[in-house]
Amino acid sequence: AAKKSGRNGFRFYLPCMNEEALERLRIENALRQALARSEFMLHYQPQVDLGDGAITGVEALLRWQHPEMGVVAPDRFIGLAEETGLIVPIGMWALQSACAQGKAWNDWRAAHGQPPLRMAVNLSARQFTQPDLVAKVAEVLEETGLPPACLELELTESVFMNDVTQAANLLRDLKALGVTLSIDDFGTGYSSLSYLRRFPIDVLKIDRSFVNDIAVDEDDEAIVVSIIALAHNLKLRVVAEGVESREQLEYLRRHDCDQIQGYYFSRPVAPLQFEQMLRENKHLGWAELAPLAWVE
Ligand code: C2E
Ligand code: MG
Ligand code: MG
Ligand code: MG
Repeated sequence: AAKKSGRNGFRFYLPCMNEEALERLRIENALRQALARSEFMLHYQPQVDLGDGAITGVEALLRWQHPEMGVVAPDRFIGLAEETGLIVPIGMWALQSACAQGKAWNDWRAAHGQPPLRMAVNLSARQFTQPDLVAKVAEVLEETGLPPACLELELTESVFMNDVTQAANLLRDLKALGVTLSIDDFGTGYSSLSYLRRFPIDVLKIDRSFVNDIAVDEDDEAIVVSIIALAHNLKLRVVAEGVESREQLEYLRRHDCDQIQGYYFSRPVAPLQFEQMLRENKHLGWAELAPLAWVE
C-alpha cells in the first residue's frame, strides 16, 4: 500500500520521525483511504439463547478488507483509529451498515413469522466524547428504519472513567431513544460497580477471559457465577462471550446465564453465511443443536 500514494496518499518524512511514528502515519493514511474506498465490512456473530437455542441477537464486528493484506482484524487497527479520531467516522459507518442489515433481516423474519433479532454494535469511548452522538444514532435509526428496540449499543467500562456526569446524561439520552445498552468485556475495566445502578444499563457481557477457564479454574468459575448473580439481582440480562466448548456452554446453562456468544456456536461470519445460519436455526431444541461449521 505504501507505494500507491495517489491523491489521498500524500506522505512526508522528517528526519526526527522514528520508524514507529512513520508506521503510524502510514496506517492512519491507510485507514483514511480505506474509509473513502469502502474497504470496511462487517462480520456477524450470533448470540444464542441458552433457554431454547434460538439465535436472538447478533453482534456486528468490523473487518478491513485490505487490497493487499486481505482481511484485517479490528485488534490491528481499532487502537490507532481511536487515537487518531478516525474511529468516529468508521464507527458511524459501522452503525449505519449494521442497522441497515438488521432492518433487512428483520423484514425477512417478520415475513416468515419469526421474532425480531437484536443487532449489537460496538461504540468506542472516543465516540462518547462526540456531542452529536445521540442525534447521529437517532438519525441512523430513522434513515434505516430499524426499530430502536432492535439496536443494542455495546460500551466498555472506560466510558465511565472520564466525565461521569457527561456519561450519565449521554446514556440517559441514548436510552430515551429506546435502544438497549450493554457493557462489553465486563469485569476487565477499572470502574466501580456503583455505575450499574446509577446508569440505565440493560446487559452485561462477561469478558471471554473469565469464560475461557470455567470448568477448569475455580476462581474464574466464582467470578462468572458472581457476575451472573449480580446481573440478575440488578434485573440485567447476561451474555457470556467467548464460549468455545460444549462444556463451557453446559456450565453456563446450569448457572442460569441468559445467552452465549462464541466460536462453539459460530465465529463471526459474512452476511450471506449468517443468513444461512438464521434459516437453519429457527427454533431448535438443544438436543438438535450442534456446533455450526467454522467458517471464517
Ligand atoms: P468485542 O466487542 O469484545 O468482540 C468480541 C471479540 O471476540 C470479537 O473479536 C470476536 O471475534 C471474538 N470472539 C468471539 N467469540 C470468540 C471465541 O469463542 N473465542 C475467541 N478467542 N474469540 C472470540 P474481533 O471481531 O476481532 O473484535 C475485537 C474487538 O474489536 C471487539 O471486541 C471490539 O472491542 C472491537 N470492535 C470490533 N468491531 C468494532 C466496531 O465496529 N467499533 C468499535 N469501536 N470497536 C469494534
Ligand atoms: Mg462487543
Ligand atoms: Mg467483548
Ligand atoms: Mg474485546
